[in-house]
Amino acid sequence: MDKDSIFKKNMEDSYGRIAKKLRISVTDRCNMQCVYCMPYNNTNWLEQNTLLSYEQIVHLVNIFAKFGIEKIKITGGEPTVRPKIEELVKSLSNIDGIKSISMTTNGLLLKDKVKKLKDSGLNSITISLDTFNQKRFKAITGIEGGLTKVLDSIDAAKTAGLQVKINVVIMRGWNEDEIVHFAQFSRETNTIVKFIEFMPLDGTGIWTNNLVFSKREMIQLINTKVKKLVPLFNDNSDPARLYSFEDGIGIVGFIPSITEPFCQYCDRIRITSDGKFYTCLFEKKIYDLKVLLQEGKSDAEIGEYILENIKKKPEGIISLTRLNLLKPTLNQMHTIGG
Ligand code: SAM
Ligand code: SF4
Repeated sequence: MDKDSIFKKNMEDSYGRIAKKLRISVTDRCNMQCVYCMPYNNTNWLEQNTLLSYEQIVHLVNIFAKFGIEKIKITGGEPTVRPKIEELVKSLSNIDGIKSISMTTNGLLLKDKVKKLKDSGLNSITISLDTFNQKRFKAITGIEGGLTKVLDSIDAAKTAGLQVKINVVIMRGWNEDEIVHFAQFSRETNTIVKFIEFMPLDGTGIWTNNLVFSKREMIQLINTKVKKLVPLFNDNSDPARLYSFEDGIGIVGFIPSITEPFCQYCDRIRITSDGKFYTCLFEKKIYDLKVLLQEGKSDAEIGEYILENIKKKPEGIISLTRLNLLKPTLNQMHTIGG
């Protein structure tokens, strides 16, 4: 049998979901300490020599692309702290079958890098921002004076011609009073703003159900205080449920991972910066792809290992909510990559 015939198969799991999108965490390190993500005073970083090199990442993406992966998201930790990240973007954009490359970043260092990233083939960028208030920005991220830098990066990304989206994690008692401001920001700046329900992927142990401000509550607030929302056509595999307003100005999205989990449509898989393969954010098993690369396994052998393990993709957070098993730090977002 042709050794590459394995790649005629889809990456289909036991629930019939076919993986199409790959998120690559390029580092677990970060220049922020968001309360909903990073352990306090974290020093427990991966050793630099355990990280996948860019060549190894490109090698793995070549394999995933043969299985039908079309979209790549580069994330972390903070992807812009990894040196010469634009070189990775360039190499990934040359891989057959890869149709788009995006990045999720906290925006702190983005302004000076964004043009290079765009010129290297980055198609779109998601910038995380949870508040427009300087003091609150410091309370959430630990960074003094960072808000201006992030706002400047948003402008720079637009000027560079990238499609820009904003991610906002809403935590009850922290920033739900800014939902209206973010909705207005979307309308005034023609930027898609995605509101994310707080997930128990915190490194701090602060997650509780009470801190989850639900999609339903957010919609109610925007309907009464801004303008009536109108649902847009939604690609079910996109975690964000998108809405416009009745006058057609502005787009907001909601990622209701807790109150309306969308696991049945999940087409995402992940690799971590040290080469672990995760089929789900809430997975506990470890599939090590870096070891296979180091052992000199062929693409077909690595492909077989991936296919074997994709079958074990868990149902997802939906099974944990059903069984009331949500609790803090179920996993750590900064290592797996959001
Ligand atoms: N450092 C980059 C950033 O912040 O955009 C990329 C990595 S970060 C882990 C990816 C996304 O996950 C961010 O938009 C962040 O707000 C979100 N995130 C982190 N922890 C989360 C949590 N516990 N619940 C919901 N979203 C979370
Ligand atoms: Fe860093 Fe992003 Fe986590 Fe904030 S959400 S601590 S910016 S990895």
